Amino acid sequence: MSDFHSKYSDRTPNPLRFPNTPGDVLPLHLNESYNLAPDSFIRSFRDAISNTIVGRYPTHKKLEEKIAEYVGVGENELLLTAGSDQGIELVIRGFLEGKKLALPIPSFIAYEYLAKIYNVEICSIEYSENTLLEEDLLSALETSDAIAISNPGNPIGTTLSREVLIKIIEKGKEQGKIVIVDEAYFEFFGETVVDLVQKCPNLIVLRTFSKAFGLAGARVGVLAANSSFVDQIAKLQLPCPISSLSLLAVSVALDHKKDFEESRKEYIQVRESLEKKLEDVGYKVVYTKTNFLLLETGENTEKMMETFLNKYKIAVFGNVSSNFVRIAVPDKKEAKTLLKALTEVHRYLQI
Ligand code: PMP
Repeated sequence: MSDFHSKYSDRTPNPLRFPNTPGDVLPLHLNESYNLAPDSFIRSFRDAISNTIVGRYPTHKKLEEKIAEYVGVGENELLLTAGSDQGIELVIRGFLEGKKLALPIPSFIAYEYLAKIYNVEICSIEYSENTLLEEDLLSALETSDAIAISNPGNPIGTTLSREVLIKIIEKGKEQGKIVIVDEAYFEFFGETVVDLVQKCPNLIVLRTFSKAFGLAGARVGVLAANSSFVDQIAKLQLPCPISSLSLLAVSVALDHKKDFEESRKEYIQVRESLEKKLEDVGYKVVYTKTNFLLLETGENTEKMMETFLNKYKIAVFGNVSSNFVRIAVPDKKEAKTLLKALTEVHRYLQI
């Protein structure tokens, strides 16, 4: 058998492939902000679709300029990717195959999954009561070839200060190690290290239009790094990896930046109001600066996921080993349904 066949001969399905969510289930498990994009954007996007856009291979020079300005980097310091998932994959495939990656566990699942595919050894960094300690991060980097930190993190929303990140980036620079700072939730958090890419040739910052712009279906991510690093990473990508419709969606979204900001404000208000009400109900709420609600659910985590799905037809994401449930923020109407269900479940499970 060829190497390829022996490597993938296990017939279990790809665990990251999303099964279809039945139409009658409220899908709050995949961490989409599916109700965030404003109507004004949808109308303009629809009006902008043309034969030229769907009929030609996409070129994105103009859009790169627009995104670079939005992100705050030079045009040469940016690479558009098919979701930030693709940015993660390019870096792991291109630079870390057979090497060691320091990673907080749990982290966004794609890191662990891709590490497995590309034979990357994970050096796990433990959380200490939902926080990451500077000394643990630095010592994990010491024994690894790279480190990947999401700030804020998914699935448990942990944040790191710029000061700590700078220490890690500096150490990475000294030792020639790659530092990935995944800022998928940047617009909810407001802090960044993207301004350091020019000076730090080892730093990669990832962003996405999936969360704060509610465009998960478009699959557009941004990789920002020093221009010579971007040139190297770009060589790993086939031409035109992102559909012209997705690029159009992002371009129109940036034209409607103000409407998105308003929409995001309302979205955050829904999250904050739910957080407060859930605390009143008696839940242990972990406050995050992301697009999701986070509840510490102890040993009830699995039961809670099951009850939610079977009794209330609401899908939520539970991490059984870390004992919490992550729930994407729904729209205002759905928030009422969610709150009612969570209140009943709390009573029923006596969390
Ligand atoms: N990084 C983090 C930390 C995430 O939470 C996610 C999505 N859940 C991604 C990257 C991937 O985002 P995208 O939709 O752009 O591939």
